[in-house]
Amino acid sequence: MTRGTKIVATLGPATSDPEVLERLIRAGVDVVRLNFSHGKAQDHIDRANLVREIAERVGRTVALMADLQGPKIRVGKFVDGKVMLVKGERFVLDASRTEPGDINGVGLDYKELPRDVKPGDTLLLNDGLIVLTVEEVKGDKVHTIVKVEGELSNNKGINKQGGGLTAPALTAKDMDDIRTAASFRCDYLAVSFPKNATDMEMARQLANVAGESQRHKPAMIAKIERTEAIPNLESILKASDGIMVARGDLAVEVGNASVPALQKRMIRMAREMDKVVITATQMMESMILAPVPTRAEVSDVANAVLDGTDAVMLSAETAAGRYPIETVETMAAIALEAERADDVQLIETTFINKKFGRIDQSIAMGALFTAQHLGCKAIVALTESGSTALWISRQRSQVPIFALTSQPTSLRRMALYRNVTPLMMPTYDDRDTALAEAERLLVARGVFRPGDTYAITCGEPMGYPGGTNMLKICRVN
Ligand code: PGA
Ligand code: MN
Repeated sequence: MTRGTKIVATLGPATSDPEVLERLIRAGVDVVRLNFSHGKAQDHIDRANLVREIAERVGRTVALMADLQGPKIRVGKFVDGKVMLVKGERFVLDASRTEPGDINGVGLDYKELPRDVKPGDTLLLNDGLIVLTVEEVKGDKVHTIVKVEGELSNNKGINKQGGGLTAPALTAKDMDDIRTAASFRCDYLAVSFPKNATDMEMARQLANVAGESQRHKPAMIAKIERTEAIPNLESILKASDGIMVARGDLAVEVGNASVPALQKRMIRMAREMDKVVITATQMMESMILAPVPTRAEVSDVANAVLDGTDAVMLSAETAAGRYPIETVETMAAIALEAERADDVQLIETTFINKKFGRIDQSIAMGALFTAQHLGCKAIVALTESGSTALWISRQRSQVPIFALTSQPTSLRRMALYRNVTPLMMPTYDDRDTALAEAERLLVARGVFRPGDTYAITCGEPMGYPGGTNMLKICRVN
């Protein structure tokens, strides 16, 4: 059995070395995340080129995801780099302060904060480790009292409990980074802190304009990490190609306890709406320092797989951890075992009640139904755009999908789709030649053996995106 759940790994100092990166890719990474919160444009360009080069050499399909920083709302710097905030003491967040901070207060990178808060509000600093209560707002100064104490260092993030910070989702830096990402034709572009569909539409438009000269359009991922995004989930999903359950910031904004249920809801919604979904943050956190995960982390990864996520994501574990390779290997093994134990049947109402009016989509659903009930070895989709593979993979099933395409862009995009193995195959004008070639390719890869039955979809005339109109059940001779 091959693993169906995909692994997204963030690159960083721990994985900059070409040799380590190659081992990481060989260990099973499907999507590489370039985190634009760190590093310079050239670092990301170099990494992108290196990833493509290695993937080509080792014969694996790896997609690139550029992750924009977004409006990280942060405090300024301190005289000594940090201060210790003590419970019950006063602390002033001052938008007009230019000198470095001290034990009494600090400046703000985010100048709008005093206009976004009122007395009684709870502010969470450093991913929620420090809690401040707003006492009063006077001009540019937010007077607070320390509720949960801790060490506060330079440029730590600020969240407001319950949401309500008005910072726009796209900063000037993000706009530059969108152009950088377009220069290496990133397959996925992740937008941080979108509040609504308009944020995603704007980002998509900017990305499409930046890629216009190369006719490149990235797939758009909305990172769900703001309170405001939750009631807008449906419209955000409509405006995006997928979402990320960005549990780090999300947990700080909505409270830890709400996140597991939200994760399940987001995964279900994304799949129902034919979108992809990544579950992210702290999945294998302890492996930053240790060669084995905690039992809780093992369960977390397995449960995300059982929830139906397309991919599980690693952040600091692979970007700055001591055991990047071991982390990917361990995560892959957990995912595979969870998939094995998952008893999937096509009785879910999402399948039974699925409504579709398109010919290609009905062929996709027919292929899945037939393959599942006949006990086919696999479903093979000859697809230009990748949409047939996407539709089939939105339903929970254990039948592996092999998506054969002549389009490198579709190939890499499909690297994120659960249960889909994307493979390159040239287009043939003649249908029978194409079908024979597809079978030959999968026999050569050791997927099919004589006697195996499989379902295959294609479109006639051949080679047109959205043209799938045929389903054939074949037996390997
Ligand atoms: P980040 O996003 O790693 O860019 O903060 C993920 C999250 O918030 O969980
Ligand atoms: Mn985040």
